[in-house]
Amino acid sequence: MAQNLVAGIPISTGIAVGRAFFVNRGLRGRLPRRMVRKEAVQSEIDRLRAAFAEAEAQLLDVRERVPPELKDHKHIIDSHLMMLKDPNLFGAAEKIIGSLAINAEWGLEKAVDELEKVFAAINDPYIRDRMQDVRIVAEQVQTRLLGERKDIQAMEGRAIILAHDLTPGDTIGLNVQKIMGIATTLGGKTSHTGILARTLGIPAVVGVESLEDAAHDGDLVIIDGLKGKVLVNPDEEELTQYADLQHQFEDYHTSIVRSCQLPAETIDGYRMQVLANIELAEELSTVIDNGGEGVGLYRTEYSFLNRTTLPSEEELYEEYLNLAATIAPRRVTIRTLDMGADKFMSHFGPVDEPNPALGLRAIRFCLRHRELFKTQLRAILRASRVGNVSMMFPMISGLKEIRRAKSLMADAQAELKAQGLPFNAQMPVGIMVELPAAVMIAEILAQEVDFFSIGTNDLIQYSLGIDRTNQQVSYLYQPLHPAILRSIKQVVDAAHQTGIEVSLCGEVASDPFCVPILMGMQIDCISLTPKAIPGIKRIVRQARMEECVNLLKQVLHCRTVGRINRLVTDTIFQSFPEELSFYASLLDTDDMGG
Ligand code: PEP
Ligand code: MG
Repeated sequence: MAQNLVAGIPISTGIAVGRAFFVNRGLRGRLPRRMVRKEAVQSEIDRLRAAFAEAEAQLLDVRERVPPELKDHKHIIDSHLMMLKDPNLFGAAEKIIGSLAINAEWGLEKAVDELEKVFAAINDPYIRDRMQDVRIVAEQVQTRLLGERKDIQAMEGRAIILAHDLTPGDTIGLNVQKIMGIATTLGGKTSHTGILARTLGIPAVVGVESLEDAAHDGDLVIIDGLKGKVLVNPDEEELTQYADLQHQFEDYHTSIVRSCQLPAETIDGYRMQVLANIELAEELSTVIDNGGEGVGLYRTEYSFLNRTTLPSEEELYEEYLNLAATIAPRRVTIRTLDMGADKFMSHFGPVDEPNPALGLRAIRFCLRHRELFKTQLRAILRASRVGNVSMMFPMISGLKEIRRAKSLMADAQAELKAQGLPFNAQMPVGIMVELPAAVMIAEILAQEVDFFSIGTNDLIQYSLGIDRTNQQVSYLYQPLHPAILRSIKQVVDAAHQTGIEVSLCGEVASDPFCVPILMGMQIDCISLTPKAIPGIKRIVRQARMEECVNLLKQVLHCRTVGRINRLVTDTIFQSFPEELSFYASLLDTDDMGG
Protein backbone atom coordinates (compact mmCIF):
# COMPACT_ATOMS: atom_id res chain seq x y z
CA MET A 1 0.00 0.00 0.00
CA ALA A 2 1.18 3.51 -0.79
CA GLN A 3 2.38 5.54 2.19
CA ASN A 4 -0.42 8.01 1.38
CA LEU A 5 -3.29 7.98 -1.06
CA VAL A 6 -5.15 11.23 -1.57
CA ALA A 7 -8.00 12.00 -3.91
CA GLY A 8 -9.02 15.05 -5.92
CA ILE A 9 -10.66 16.02 -9.19
CA PRO A 10 -9.19 14.46 -12.36
CA ILE A 11 -8.79 17.30 -14.87
CA SER A 12 -6.36 15.98 -17.44
CA THR A 13 -6.26 12.29 -18.38
CA GLY A 14 -3.26 9.99 -18.25
CA ILE A 15 -0.91 8.43 -15.70
CA ALA A 16 2.42 9.88 -14.54
CA VAL A 17 5.00 8.37 -12.21
CA GLY A 18 7.94 10.46 -10.95
CA ARG A 19 9.60 12.38 -8.14
CA ALA A 20 7.71 15.17 -6.39
CA PHE A 21 8.79 18.79 -6.68
CA PHE A 22 6.81 21.24 -4.53
CA VAL A 23 6.56 24.60 -6.27
CA ASN A 24 4.79 26.23 -3.33
CA ARG A 25 2.80 25.44 -0.21
CA GLY A 26 -0.19 27.21 1.34
CA LEU A 27 0.74 30.27 3.39
CA ARG A 28 -2.41 30.60 5.51
CA GLY A 29 -1.55 30.20 9.18
CA ARG A 30 2.18 30.21 8.48
CA LEU A 31 2.80 33.91 8.01
CA PRO A 32 4.80 35.51 10.83
CA ARG A 33 2.97 38.30 12.64
CA ARG A 34 5.25 40.62 14.63
CA MET A 35 5.09 44.09 16.05
CA VAL A 36 8.23 45.98 15.14
CA ARG A 37 9.95 48.93 16.78
CA LYS A 38 9.29 52.35 15.22
CA GLU A 39 12.88 52.49 13.91
CA ALA A 40 12.42 49.14 12.14
CA VAL A 41 9.30 50.19 10.21
CA GLN A 42 11.28 51.60 7.31
CA SER A 43 13.25 48.40 6.89
CA GLU A 44 9.97 46.39 6.77
CA ILE A 45 8.71 48.76 4.06
CA ASP A 46 12.01 48.28 2.21
CA ARG A 47 11.63 44.49 2.47
CA LEU A 48 8.12 44.80 1.07
CA ARG A 49 9.32 46.98 -1.82
CA ALA A 50 12.13 44.57 -2.60
CA ALA A 51 9.74 41.59 -2.60
CA PHE A 52 7.31 43.41 -4.94
CA ALA A 53 10.21 44.30 -7.23
CA GLU A 54 11.45 40.70 -7.23
CA ALA A 55 8.00 39.36 -8.03
CA GLU A 56 7.71 41.86 -10.87
CA ALA A 57 11.13 40.98 -12.26
CA GLN A 58 10.29 37.28 -12.20
CA LEU A 59 6.97 37.81 -14.00
CA LEU A 60 8.64 40.00 -16.62
CA ASP A 61 11.17 37.24 -17.14
CA VAL A 62 8.43 34.60 -17.48
CA ARG A 63 6.61 36.88 -19.90
CA GLU A 64 9.65 36.88 -22.17
CA ARG A 65 9.84 33.10 -22.19
CA VAL A 66 6.23 32.11 -22.82
CA PRO A 67 6.32 28.98 -25.01
CA PRO A 68 4.40 29.27 -28.31
CA GLU A 69 1.63 26.84 -27.27
CA LEU A 70 0.81 29.09 -24.30
CA LYS A 71 1.19 32.40 -26.09
CA ASP A 72 -2.41 33.36 -25.60
CA HIS A 73 -2.22 33.04 -21.85
CA LYS A 74 0.22 35.97 -21.73
CA HIS A 75 -2.53 38.43 -20.88
CA ILE A 76 -2.94 36.81 -17.45
CA ILE A 77 0.65 37.64 -16.66
CA ASP A 78 0.01 41.20 -17.82
CA SER A 79 -2.93 41.56 -15.47
CA HIS A 80 -0.81 40.23 -12.57
CA LEU A 81 1.91 42.73 -13.43
CA MET A 82 -0.70 45.48 -13.28
CA MET A 83 -1.80 44.32 -9.83
CA LEU A 84 1.75 44.37 -8.55
CA LYS A 85 1.78 48.08 -9.36
CA ASP A 86 -1.68 48.79 -7.98
CA PRO A 87 -1.53 51.32 -5.09
CA ASN A 88 -4.62 49.68 -3.58
CA LEU A 89 -2.43 46.75 -2.72
CA PHE A 90 1.13 48.00 -2.47
CA GLY A 91 0.36 51.46 -1.08
CA ALA A 92 -2.22 50.12 1.36
CA ALA A 93 0.24 47.54 2.72
CA GLU A 94 2.89 50.24 3.22
CA LYS A 95 0.43 52.43 5.11
CA ILE A 96 -0.66 49.56 7.37
CA ILE A 97 2.96 48.63 8.17
CA GLY A 98 3.68 52.27 9.05
CA SER A 99 0.58 52.97 11.09
CA LEU A 100 0.48 49.69 13.04
CA ALA A 101 4.26 49.13 13.19
CA ILE A 102 4.02 45.51 12.08
CA ASN A 103 6.16 43.26 9.87
CA ALA A 104 5.84 43.27 6.07
CA GLU A 105 4.18 39.83 5.73
CA TRP A 106 1.45 40.77 8.18
CA GLY A 107 0.98 44.23 6.67
CA LEU A 108 0.39 42.78 3.23
CA GLU A 109 -1.97 40.14 4.61
CA LYS A 110 -4.00 42.88 6.28
CA ALA A 111 -4.09 44.93 3.08
CA VAL A 112 -5.47 41.90 1.19
CA ASP A 113 -8.04 41.24 3.94
CA GLU A 114 -9.19 44.87 3.75
CA LEU A 115 -9.63 44.66 -0.01
CA GLU A 116 -11.49 41.40 0.37
CA LYS A 117 -13.92 42.95 2.84
CA VAL A 118 -14.71 45.75 0.41
CA PHE A 119 -15.22 43.33 -2.47
CA ALA A 120 -17.18 40.78 -0.43
CA ALA A 121 -20.05 43.25 -0.24
CA ILE A 122 -20.38 43.13 -4.04
CA ASN A 123 -21.97 39.92 -5.21
CA ASP A 124 -20.37 39.64 -8.60
CA PRO A 125 -18.37 36.82 -10.20
CA TYR A 126 -16.06 39.22 -12.04
CA ILE A 127 -15.01 40.81 -8.77
CA ARG A 128 -14.62 37.40 -7.13
CA ASP A 129 -12.23 36.37 -9.91
CA ARG A 130 -10.21 39.56 -9.60
CA MET A 131 -9.99 39.06 -5.84
CA GLN A 132 -8.58 35.60 -6.44
CA ASP A 133 -5.93 37.17 -8.67
CA VAL A 134 -5.09 39.74 -5.99
CA ARG A 135 -4.57 36.88 -3.53
CA ILE A 136 -2.34 35.00 -6.01
CA VAL A 137 -0.21 38.09 -6.56
CA ALA A 138 0.05 38.84 -2.83
CA GLU A 139 1.07 35.25 -2.11
CA GLN A 140 3.85 35.52 -4.65
CA VAL A 141 5.17 38.53 -2.78
CA GLN A 142 4.74 36.83 0.61
CA THR A 143 6.63 33.73 -0.51
CA ARG A 144 9.51 36.01 -1.35
CA LEU A 145 9.29 37.79 1.99
CA LEU A 146 9.55 34.38 3.66
CA GLY A 147 12.55 33.55 1.51
CA GLU A 148 10.73 30.42 0.28
CA ARG A 149 10.77 31.21 -3.37
CA LYS A 150 12.01 28.18 -5.23
CA ASP A 151 14.08 28.54 -8.30
CA ILE A 152 11.86 26.48 -10.55
CA GLN A 153 14.28 26.84 -13.42
CA ALA A 154 16.85 24.99 -11.35
CA MET A 155 14.63 21.91 -11.14
CA GLU A 156 16.76 19.00 -12.23
CA GLY A 157 15.35 16.49 -14.67
CA ARG A 158 11.65 15.82 -15.07
CA ALA A 159 9.33 15.84 -12.09
CA ILE A 160 5.77 15.71 -10.83
CA ILE A 161 4.82 19.25 -9.93
CA LEU A 162 2.95 19.63 -6.64
CA ALA A 163 1.65 22.94 -5.36
CA HIS A 164 -0.86 24.62 -3.11
CA ASP A 165 -1.99 26.40 -6.25
CA LEU A 166 -0.26 26.98 -9.54
CA THR A 167 -0.36 30.53 -10.75
CA PRO A 168 -0.35 30.98 -14.52
CA GLY A 169 3.12 32.52 -14.08
CA ASP A 170 4.31 29.34 -12.31
CA THR A 171 2.97 27.05 -15.00
CA ILE A 172 4.15 29.11 -17.90
CA GLY A 173 7.50 29.73 -16.22
CA LEU A 174 8.17 26.03 -15.85
CA ASN A 175 9.90 24.33 -18.69
CA VAL A 176 6.90 22.38 -19.91
CA GLN A 177 9.10 19.55 -21.17
CA LYS A 178 10.08 18.88 -17.57
CA ILE A 179 6.55 18.52 -16.15
CA MET A 180 5.43 14.89 -15.97
CA GLY A 181 2.26 15.43 -13.99
CA ILE A 182 0.55 18.01 -11.79
CA ALA A 183 -1.38 17.91 -8.50
CA THR A 184 -2.60 20.93 -6.54
CA THR A 185 -4.43 21.52 -3.27
CA LEU A 186 -6.73 24.15 -4.77
CA GLY A 187 -8.51 24.26 -8.11
CA GLY A 188 -11.65 22.93 -9.69
CA LYS A 189 -12.73 21.52 -13.03
CA THR A 190 -12.49 24.82 -14.85
CA SER A 191 -9.37 26.12 -13.13
CA HIS A 192 -6.58 27.65 -15.13
CA THR A 193 -4.25 24.79 -14.15
CA GLY A 194 -6.70 22.36 -15.74
CA ILE A 195 -6.94 24.28 -18.99
CA LEU A 196 -3.15 24.50 -19.28
CA ALA A 197 -2.63 20.84 -18.36
CA ARG A 198 -5.13 19.74 -20.98
CA THR A 199 -3.59 22.05 -23.58
CA LEU A 200 -0.20 20.48 -22.88
CA GLY A 201 -1.53 16.91 -22.47
CA ILE A 202 -0.10 16.53 -18.94
CA PRO A 203 -1.94 14.23 -16.45
CA ALA A 204 -3.33 16.37 -13.62
CA VAL A 205 -5.43 16.19 -10.46
CA VAL A 206 -6.62 19.31 -8.61
CA GLY A 207 -8.52 20.00 -5.39
CA VAL A 208 -6.44 17.43 -3.46
CA GLU A 209 -7.14 18.77 0.02
CA SER A 210 -4.50 16.97 2.08
CA LEU A 211 -1.77 17.03 -0.57
CA GLU A 212 0.62 19.22 1.40
CA ASP A 213 0.58 16.90 4.43
CA ALA A 214 0.72 13.75 2.34
CA ALA A 215 3.73 14.47 0.10
CA HIS A 216 7.19 16.00 0.31
CA ASP A 217 9.93 16.96 -2.14
CA GLY A 218 11.58 13.90 -3.61
CA ASP A 219 8.76 11.45 -2.76
CA LEU A 220 7.89 8.99 -5.49
CA VAL A 221 4.42 9.96 -6.69
CA ILE A 222 1.82 8.51 -9.05
CA ILE A 223 -0.66 10.92 -10.61
CA ASP A 224 -3.77 9.10 -11.77
CA GLY A 225 -5.44 11.66 -14.04
CA LEU A 226 -8.12 9.12 -14.99
CA LYS A 227 -9.58 8.55 -11.54
CA GLY A 228 -8.26 11.65 -9.71
CA LYS A 229 -5.85 9.98 -7.30
CA VAL A 230 -2.38 10.83 -6.01
CA LEU A 231 -0.35 7.93 -4.54
CA VAL A 232 2.66 8.91 -2.45
CA ASN A 233 5.50 6.39 -2.16
CA PRO A 234 3.55 3.51 -3.69
CA ASP A 235 4.52 -0.12 -3.02
CA GLU A 236 5.88 -2.50 -5.65
CA GLU A 237 2.49 -3.94 -6.48
CA GLU A 238 0.96 -0.50 -7.08
CA LEU A 239 3.93 0.55 -9.17
CA THR A 240 3.57 -2.51 -11.39
CA GLN A 241 -0.19 -2.05 -11.61
CA TYR A 242 0.17 1.61 -12.61
CA ALA A 243 3.01 0.89 -15.02
CA ASP A 244 0.62 -1.55 -16.78
CA LEU A 245 -2.20 0.98 -16.79
CA GLN A 246 0.15 3.67 -18.08
CA HIS A 247 1.23 1.41 -20.94
CA GLN A 248 -2.33 0.45 -21.74
CA PHE A 249 -3.37 4.10 -21.73
CA GLU A 250 -0.45 5.16 -23.88
CA ASP A 251 -1.02 2.28 -26.34
CA TYR A 252 -4.68 3.11 -26.48
CA HIS A 253 -3.90 6.79 -26.93
CA THR A 254 -1.34 6.13 -29.67
CA SER A 255 -3.74 3.86 -31.49
CA ILE A 256 -6.67 6.28 -31.37
CA VAL A 257 -4.47 9.16 -32.49
CA ARG A 258 -3.12 7.00 -35.32
CA SER A 259 -6.61 6.40 -36.67
CA CYS A 260 -8.04 9.83 -35.88
CA GLN A 261 -7.79 11.18 -39.41
CA LEU A 262 -10.22 8.51 -40.65
CA PRO A 263 -13.82 9.66 -41.07
CA ALA A 264 -16.29 9.17 -38.22
CA GLU A 265 -18.31 6.53 -40.03
CA THR A 266 -20.06 3.57 -38.42
CA ILE A 267 -19.49 -0.02 -39.59
CA ASP A 268 -22.81 0.16 -41.43
CA GLY A 269 -21.97 3.40 -43.23
CA TYR A 270 -23.56 6.22 -41.17
CA ARG A 271 -21.37 9.31 -41.30
CA MET A 272 -21.26 11.97 -38.62
CA GLN A 273 -19.08 15.08 -38.63
CA VAL A 274 -16.79 15.54 -35.66
CA LEU A 275 -15.77 19.15 -35.12
CA ALA A 276 -13.87 20.99 -32.39
CA ASN A 277 -14.71 23.58 -29.72
CA ILE A 278 -11.96 26.14 -29.33
CA GLU A 279 -11.28 29.50 -27.74
CA LEU A 280 -8.01 30.45 -29.41
CA ALA A 281 -6.75 30.26 -32.97
CA GLU A 282 -3.55 28.70 -31.55
CA GLU A 283 -5.56 25.54 -30.89
CA LEU A 284 -6.14 24.93 -34.60
CA SER A 285 -3.07 22.72 -35.01
CA THR A 286 -4.34 20.54 -32.12
CA VAL A 287 -7.72 20.36 -33.87
CA ILE A 288 -6.14 19.14 -37.09
CA ASP A 289 -3.67 16.77 -35.37
CA ASN A 290 -6.55 15.16 -33.50
CA GLY A 291 -8.68 14.62 -36.58
CA GLY A 292 -11.12 17.51 -36.12
CA GLU A 293 -13.04 18.08 -39.35
CA GLY A 294 -13.43 21.77 -38.63
CA VAL A 295 -14.47 24.06 -35.78
CA GLY A 296 -18.06 23.68 -34.60
CA LEU A 297 -17.79 26.31 -31.87
CA TYR A 298 -15.38 29.22 -31.72
CA ARG A 299 -16.00 31.01 -28.43
CA THR A 300 -15.27 34.70 -28.98
CA GLU A 301 -15.29 35.97 -25.40
CA TYR A 302 -11.58 35.68 -24.78
CA SER A 303 -10.48 38.69 -26.81
CA PHE A 304 -12.86 40.84 -24.75
CA LEU A 305 -11.66 39.69 -21.32
CA ASN A 306 -8.79 40.92 -19.16
CA ARG A 307 -8.57 44.30 -20.81
CA THR A 308 -9.99 47.69 -20.09
CA THR A 309 -10.70 48.76 -23.67
CA LEU A 310 -12.90 47.08 -26.26
CA PRO A 311 -11.24 45.35 -29.21
CA SER A 312 -11.56 47.29 -32.46
CA GLU A 313 -13.27 45.95 -35.59
CA GLU A 314 -9.86 45.61 -37.27
CA GLU A 315 -8.50 43.61 -34.36
CA LEU A 316 -11.48 41.24 -34.41
CA TYR A 317 -11.43 41.01 -38.19
CA GLU A 318 -7.74 40.00 -38.14
CA GLU A 319 -8.51 37.38 -35.48
CA TYR A 320 -11.46 35.85 -37.35
CA LEU A 321 -9.78 36.08 -40.76
CA ASN A 322 -6.70 34.29 -39.45
CA LEU A 323 -8.94 31.64 -37.90
CA ALA A 324 -10.95 31.06 -41.08
CA ALA A 325 -7.95 31.14 -43.41
CA THR A 326 -5.93 28.73 -41.25
CA ILE A 327 -8.67 26.11 -40.93
CA ALA A 328 -9.86 26.40 -44.58
CA PRO A 329 -11.10 24.44 -46.45
CA ARG A 330 -12.56 23.01 -43.26
CA ARG A 331 -15.48 24.94 -41.81
CA VAL A 332 -15.63 27.18 -38.74
CA THR A 333 -18.66 28.36 -36.77
CA ILE A 334 -18.05 31.61 -34.93
CA ARG A 335 -20.36 32.22 -32.00
CA THR A 336 -21.18 35.85 -31.28
CA LEU A 337 -20.27 37.17 -27.86
CA ASP A 338 -21.57 35.09 -24.92
CA MET A 339 -20.73 37.68 -22.28
CA GLY A 340 -22.33 37.81 -18.83
CA ALA A 341 -22.99 35.07 -16.24
CA ASP A 342 -19.47 34.05 -15.25
CA LYS A 343 -17.64 36.21 -17.81
CA PHE A 344 -17.53 39.97 -17.46
CA MET A 345 -15.73 42.71 -19.30
CA SER A 346 -13.70 45.22 -17.37
CA HIS A 347 -14.84 47.85 -19.86
CA PHE A 348 -18.42 47.73 -18.57
CA GLY A 349 -17.41 47.29 -14.96
CA PRO A 350 -19.09 44.85 -12.59
CA VAL A 351 -22.79 44.35 -13.13
CA ASP A 352 -24.79 43.99 -9.97
CA GLU A 353 -27.22 41.20 -10.85
CA PRO A 354 -28.71 38.90 -8.21
CA ASN A 355 -28.83 35.97 -10.68
CA PRO A 356 -26.17 36.51 -13.34
CA ALA A 357 -26.93 33.22 -15.13
CA LEU A 358 -30.49 34.47 -15.57
CA GLY A 359 -29.40 38.01 -16.29
CA LEU A 360 -28.04 40.19 -19.06
CA ARG A 361 -26.10 37.43 -20.81
CA ALA A 362 -25.14 36.45 -24.35
CA ILE A 363 -27.58 37.70 -27.03
CA ARG A 364 -29.40 39.83 -24.45
CA PHE A 365 -26.15 41.61 -23.61
CA CYS A 366 -25.37 42.12 -27.30
CA LEU A 367 -28.82 43.48 -28.10
CA ARG A 368 -28.36 45.94 -25.23
CA HIS A 369 -24.87 46.98 -26.39
CA ARG A 370 -25.65 47.30 -30.07
CA GLU A 371 -22.55 49.19 -31.17
CA LEU A 372 -20.30 46.54 -29.67
CA PHE A 373 -22.43 43.81 -31.29
CA LYS A 374 -22.37 45.53 -34.67
CA THR A 375 -18.58 45.80 -34.49
CA GLN A 376 -18.36 42.07 -33.97
CA LEU A 377 -20.93 41.31 -36.67
CA ARG A 378 -19.00 43.43 -39.18
CA ALA A 379 -15.76 41.67 -38.27
CA ILE A 380 -17.33 38.20 -38.67
CA LEU A 381 -18.99 39.19 -41.94
CA ARG A 382 -15.73 40.52 -43.32
CA ALA A 383 -13.94 37.29 -42.37
CA SER A 384 -16.74 35.28 -44.03
CA ARG A 385 -15.24 36.16 -47.41
CA VAL A 386 -12.95 33.16 -46.94
CA GLY A 387 -16.11 31.12 -47.63
CA ASN A 388 -15.98 28.58 -44.80
CA VAL A 389 -17.47 30.70 -41.98
CA SER A 390 -20.85 30.24 -40.28
CA MET A 391 -22.12 32.38 -37.42
CA MET A 392 -24.42 31.58 -34.51
CA PHE A 393 -26.16 33.47 -31.74
CA PRO A 394 -26.03 32.13 -28.16
CA MET A 395 -28.87 31.79 -25.65
CA ILE A 396 -31.78 32.44 -27.97
CA SER A 397 -35.16 32.23 -26.24
CA GLY A 398 -37.53 33.22 -29.03
CA LEU A 399 -38.09 34.47 -32.56
CA LYS A 400 -37.84 38.14 -31.69
CA GLU A 401 -34.21 37.83 -30.60
CA ILE A 402 -33.29 36.08 -33.84
CA ARG A 403 -35.05 38.73 -35.91
CA ARG A 404 -33.40 41.60 -34.01
CA ALA A 405 -29.97 40.03 -34.33
CA LYS A 406 -30.53 39.37 -38.02
CA SER A 407 -31.74 42.90 -38.59
CA LEU A 408 -28.50 44.24 -37.06
CA MET A 409 -26.62 41.83 -39.30
CA ALA A 410 -28.51 43.22 -42.33
CA ASP A 411 -27.51 46.77 -41.26
CA ALA A 412 -23.89 45.64 -41.02
CA GLN A 413 -24.12 44.02 -44.46
CA ALA A 414 -25.56 47.20 -45.98
CA GLU A 415 -22.76 49.28 -44.47
CA LEU A 416 -20.07 46.92 -45.72
CA LYS A 417 -21.61 46.93 -49.19
CA ALA A 418 -21.65 50.73 -49.23
CA GLN A 419 -18.00 50.76 -48.19
CA GLY A 420 -17.10 48.20 -50.85
CA LEU A 421 -15.86 45.68 -48.27
CA PRO A 422 -16.39 42.05 -49.37
CA PHE A 423 -18.33 39.44 -47.36
CA ASN A 424 -20.19 36.21 -48.02
CA ALA A 425 -23.85 37.13 -48.39
CA GLN A 426 -24.74 33.41 -48.15
CA MET A 427 -22.96 32.86 -44.80
CA PRO A 428 -25.06 30.31 -42.85
CA VAL A 429 -26.57 31.77 -39.68
CA GLY A 430 -27.65 29.54 -36.82
CA ILE A 431 -28.51 29.60 -33.14
CA MET A 432 -27.46 27.80 -30.01
CA VAL A 433 -30.37 25.86 -28.55
CA GLU A 434 -29.60 26.01 -24.86
CA LEU A 435 -32.75 27.26 -23.19
CA PRO A 436 -35.78 25.02 -22.51
CA ALA A 437 -37.92 27.67 -24.24
CA ALA A 438 -35.97 27.24 -27.46
CA VAL A 439 -36.40 23.46 -27.25
CA MET A 440 -40.16 23.81 -26.93
CA ILE A 441 -40.47 26.04 -29.98
CA ALA A 442 -37.65 24.41 -31.94
CA GLU A 443 -39.87 23.79 -34.98
CA ILE A 444 -40.75 27.51 -35.09
CA LEU A 445 -37.14 28.65 -34.69
CA ALA A 446 -35.96 26.17 -37.32
CA GLN A 447 -37.89 28.12 -39.99
CA GLU A 448 -35.76 31.16 -39.29
CA VAL A 449 -32.19 29.84 -39.32
CA ASP A 450 -29.77 27.68 -41.29
CA PHE A 451 -28.71 25.41 -38.43
CA PHE A 452 -29.03 24.57 -34.74
CA SER A 453 -26.24 23.84 -32.31
CA ILE A 454 -27.41 22.32 -29.03
CA GLY A 455 -25.53 23.71 -26.01
CA THR A 456 -26.06 21.04 -23.38
CA ASN A 457 -23.89 22.77 -20.77
CA ASP A 458 -26.50 25.47 -20.45
CA LEU A 459 -29.49 23.36 -21.47
CA ILE A 460 -28.81 21.05 -18.52
CA GLN A 461 -28.25 24.02 -16.21
CA TYR A 462 -31.51 25.69 -17.16
CA SER A 463 -33.62 22.51 -17.52
CA LEU A 464 -32.58 20.83 -14.28
CA GLY A 465 -32.21 24.12 -12.39
CA ILE A 466 -28.60 23.62 -11.36
CA ASP A 467 -25.95 26.31 -11.38
CA ARG A 468 -23.21 24.88 -13.60
CA THR A 469 -20.52 26.57 -11.51
CA ASN A 470 -21.79 25.31 -8.14
CA GLN A 471 -19.95 22.22 -6.87
CA GLN A 472 -22.71 21.54 -4.31
CA VAL A 473 -25.17 20.54 -7.00
CA SER A 474 -22.79 19.09 -9.56
CA TYR A 475 -24.10 15.59 -8.76
CA LEU A 476 -27.37 16.67 -10.37
CA TYR A 477 -25.65 17.57 -13.62
CA GLN A 478 -26.97 14.56 -15.50
CA PRO A 479 -26.79 14.47 -19.28
CA LEU A 480 -28.68 11.16 -19.33
CA HIS A 481 -31.66 12.59 -17.44
CA PRO A 482 -34.81 11.60 -19.37
CA ALA A 483 -35.78 15.28 -19.67
CA ILE A 484 -32.46 16.14 -21.31
CA LEU A 485 -32.52 13.23 -23.73
CA ARG A 486 -36.08 14.03 -24.76
CA SER A 487 -35.17 17.70 -25.22
CA ILE A 488 -32.22 16.85 -27.45
CA LYS A 489 -34.35 14.47 -29.51
CA GLN A 490 -37.07 17.08 -29.90
CA VAL A 491 -34.55 19.60 -31.27
CA VAL A 492 -32.93 17.08 -33.63
CA ASP A 493 -36.32 16.01 -34.98
CA ALA A 494 -37.49 19.62 -35.42
CA ALA A 495 -34.31 20.48 -37.34
CA HIS A 496 -34.61 17.47 -39.61
CA GLN A 497 -38.29 18.01 -40.31
CA THR A 498 -37.43 21.52 -41.47
CA GLY A 499 -34.39 20.33 -43.38
CA ILE A 500 -31.69 22.18 -41.44
CA GLU A 501 -28.47 20.83 -39.96
CA VAL A 502 -28.23 20.13 -36.23
CA SER A 503 -25.12 19.70 -34.15
CA LEU A 504 -24.36 19.44 -30.45
CA CYS A 505 -21.47 21.34 -28.88
CA GLY A 506 -21.84 20.91 -25.10
CA GLU A 507 -19.61 18.62 -23.00
CA VAL A 508 -22.07 15.79 -23.76
CA ALA A 509 -20.39 15.51 -27.18
CA SER A 510 -17.21 14.24 -25.56
CA ASP A 511 -18.98 11.77 -23.29
CA PRO A 512 -18.56 8.25 -24.73
CA PHE A 513 -21.70 7.12 -22.92
CA CYS A 514 -23.84 9.77 -24.62
CA VAL A 515 -22.46 9.77 -28.16
CA PRO A 516 -24.05 6.43 -29.26
CA ILE A 517 -27.43 7.80 -28.11
CA LEU A 518 -26.89 11.01 -30.11
CA MET A 519 -26.02 8.84 -33.10
CA GLY A 520 -29.27 6.95 -32.60
CA MET A 521 -31.01 10.31 -33.02
CA GLN A 522 -29.06 10.77 -36.29
CA ILE A 523 -27.52 14.03 -35.22
CA ASP A 524 -25.47 15.55 -38.08
CA CYS A 525 -22.40 16.78 -36.19
CA ILE A 526 -20.90 16.94 -32.77
CA SER A 527 -18.34 19.48 -31.61
CA LEU A 528 -16.01 18.84 -28.69
CA THR A 529 -12.74 19.63 -27.01
CA PRO A 530 -9.95 18.76 -29.52
CA LYS A 531 -8.09 16.24 -27.35
CA ALA A 532 -11.26 14.14 -26.93
CA ILE A 533 -11.85 13.82 -30.68
CA PRO A 534 -9.72 10.69 -31.37
CA GLY A 535 -11.48 8.63 -28.65
CA ILE A 536 -14.95 9.68 -29.76
CA LYS A 537 -14.17 9.08 -33.44
CA ARG A 538 -12.99 5.59 -32.55
CA ILE A 539 -16.30 4.89 -30.81
CA VAL A 540 -18.26 6.08 -33.85
CA ARG A 541 -16.14 3.92 -36.15
CA GLN A 542 -16.74 0.81 -34.07
CA ALA A 543 -20.47 1.36 -33.72
CA ARG A 544 -23.40 0.09 -35.77
CA MET A 545 -26.20 2.55 -36.45
CA GLU A 546 -28.78 -0.17 -36.01
CA GLU A 547 -27.57 -0.79 -32.45
CA CYS A 548 -27.51 2.93 -31.66
CA VAL A 549 -31.12 3.31 -32.83
CA ASN A 550 -32.07 0.33 -30.70
CA LEU A 551 -30.30 1.76 -27.67
CA LEU A 552 -32.06 5.09 -28.15
CA LYS A 553 -35.46 3.36 -28.29
CA GLN A 554 -34.82 1.53 -25.05
CA VAL A 555 -33.41 4.64 -23.36
CA LEU A 556 -36.49 6.68 -24.26
CA HIS A 557 -38.64 4.10 -22.47
CA CYS A 558 -36.73 4.48 -19.20
CA ARG A 559 -38.19 6.65 -16.49
CA THR A 560 -35.14 7.43 -14.33
CA VAL A 561 -31.52 8.48 -14.82
CA GLY A 562 -30.37 5.48 -12.79
CA ARG A 563 -32.14 3.06 -15.12
CA ILE A 564 -30.73 4.83 -18.19
CA ASN A 565 -27.22 4.84 -16.72
CA ARG A 566 -27.38 1.09 -16.06
CA LEU A 567 -28.75 0.32 -19.50
CA VAL A 568 -26.17 2.52 -21.19
CA THR A 569 -23.29 1.10 -19.15
CA ASP A 570 -24.23 -2.49 -19.94
CA THR A 571 -24.84 -1.92 -23.64
CA ILE A 572 -21.92 0.39 -24.29
CA PHE A 573 -19.41 -1.58 -22.22
CA GLN A 574 -20.28 -4.66 -24.24
CA SER A 575 -19.73 -2.84 -27.51
CA PHE A 576 -16.56 -0.90 -26.62
CA PRO A 577 -14.80 -2.68 -23.75
CA GLU A 578 -11.36 -1.26 -24.52
CA GLU A 579 -12.40 2.37 -24.95
CA LEU A 580 -14.58 2.45 -21.92
CA SER A 581 -12.26 0.91 -19.37
CA PHE A 582 -10.56 4.31 -19.37
CA TYR A 583 -13.77 6.20 -18.88
CA ALA A 584 -15.38 4.02 -16.23
CA SER A 585 -15.10 6.68 -13.55
CA LEU A 586 -17.12 9.12 -15.62
CA LEU A 587 -20.37 7.33 -15.21
CA ASP A 588 -22.32 7.67 -12.03
CA THR A 589 -25.02 5.03 -11.63
CA ASP A 590 -26.53 6.88 -8.70
CA ASP A 591 -30.29 7.19 -8.88
CA MET A 592 -30.59 10.61 -7.23
CA GLY A 593 -32.36 13.44 -8.96
CA GLY A 594 -34.73 11.76 -11.39
C1 PEP B 1 -23.13 25.06 -23.91
O1 PEP B 1 -23.82 25.80 -23.21
O2 PEP B 1 -23.30 23.83 -23.99
C2 PEP B 1 -22.00 25.61 -24.71
C3 PEP B 1 -21.35 24.87 -25.56
O3 PEP B 1 -21.66 26.91 -24.52
P1 PEP B 1 -20.83 27.47 -23.25
O4 PEP B 1 -20.26 26.28 -22.51
O5 PEP B 1 -19.80 28.35 -23.84
O6 PEP B 1 -21.89 28.19 -22.49
MG1 MG C 1 -23.79 27.94 -23.43
